[in-house]
Amino acid sequence: MSTEYAASRASHDGATFWLQKSADGKELVIEGATPAVLDAFTGAADGDRFTAPANADNAFALRNTLPWLKPRLWGLATSAGTGDRLGLCTPGHVRAFQDVTGVNPVFAQQSTREMGRTHRTPRNVMDDATWGAFQGGWTGGVGGDADHQKTEESLSDCAEAGFIFFTVDPGDEMDMAAHDDEAATVRAKAQALDLSLLDTTPADLVARYAGQTVELESGPLTLDEEAVVRAVAKAGPALVRGFELINHVKSLGVTHELEFAIDETDKPTTLVEHVVVVSELQRLGVELVSFAPRWVGQFEKGVEYIGSREDLARNFQQHAEISRALGPYKLSLHSGSDKFSIYPLFAEATRGVSHLKTAGTSWIEALRVVARHEFDLLRAILKLSLESFEENRHSYHLSCDPGKIPTYPSDAQLDDLVTAVDSRQVMHVAYGAVLENFGSEIKQALDDHEDELYEIMHQHFVKHLEPFGARA
Ligand SMILES: [Zn+2]
Repeated sequence: MSTEYAASRASHDGATFWLQKSADGKELVIEGATPAVLDAFTGAADGDRFTAPANADNAFALRNTLPWLKPRLWGLATSAGTGDRLGLCTPGHVRAFQDVTGVNPVFAQQSTREMGRTHRTPRNVMDDATWGAFQGGWTGGVGGDADHQKTEESLSDCAEAGFIFFTVDPGDEMDMAAHDDEAATVRAKAQALDLSLLDTTPADLVARYAGQTVELESGPLTLDEEAVVRAVAKAGPALVRGFELINHVKSLGVTHELEFAIDETDKPTTLVEHVVVVSELQRLGVELVSFAPRWVGQFEKGVEYIGSREDLARNFQQHAEISRALGPYKLSLHSGSDKFSIYPLFAEATRGVSHLKTAGTSWIEALRVVARHEFDLLRAILKLSLESFEENRHSYHLSCDPGKIPTYPSDAQLDDLVTAVDSRQVMHVAYGAVLENFGSEIKQALDDHEDELYEIMHQHFVKHLEPFGARA
């Protein structure tokens, strides 16, 4: 007995393709294909029907056979990334993109940190996204974002797996102290930098921008000397490391787009930093398709924006004006999930030349299925999340108070614990430890209730996408 995923049915070059679920797992079925097409797949023929397991080799063959499943460049078109750590949520994401026109999907999106914590390879991420997009019947094209790349090695691995959009993140090299250091300290820091890789010196770099004016729509932005020196001291080391990583991407010889991300830092990216970083990259022949600054306020995992929305609206507007004056290139909103109140501000400021990046919200929302059906499992997940919290919270901005989470929640309380900020964040960041210990039980629960999982994703993501597009 096998059940067809009706939405997956697609025709191409006279052949029909669909996905079905059988006792052995998911299978690709192809009817009416030529031997040349079938040659790429590994499976069994029965008359005109060919059945192939949904494995890595067949995912690769499927991407090469159905062109809309192979990652493509989105350029400046409005896009959003769905970052599915479980590898099971993409069919639900597809439903949301089918409901909202004008926003292009990046289903395959994972940082190397997330891949490490979930024990997935870039190929796993790519293949799961391929099967999910196919299952959901998405034919509108897909991106592929190797998110938060910090090493040459992971860039190579992601390129090999078929990723095409590289988010280069040299944020660890940012000198955050230079944001507030005394002027003399900042000057000494800037002067001490070795910028030979950028084919320049600190003095030349400062001289290039100090006193310059960038004409913005709202008026001229003058780069005063002290702000430029500070930008060089703070972002100069990251610029060097970023350029190194970008050169590595270029050396791989693959078609690609680049995002420069310095969002995971403690202090906001100043306007002068934005101008200096992007202008220097341009001087060195690097064209970015998007830039992810650290915005003002707090972007915490899985919850609404924390801070003044007026300040943020102005911040969006100023960075967007710079991106139009120097580019155009997209601005990228990271840790972008669940911040429903700010999407209209971002869409308006960027005029849709934007990328929304969400990473963990699918994970936490998937736990809703567990909370509704597997009460003891959810309690065990919560307990482990609390026990491992101090370790998990590292590298995330969080304001949750684990002390406010009920120790022995009743069955009826569990769904609300997925929503409530304290428990939501604690479980949000625990994905590594939780998947390590309960991965197979969670995946079983999600598989047992897969349509419910997809519907949760569908409803949740429509709310993310609608401000950037139009209801279909
Ligand atoms: Zn980010």
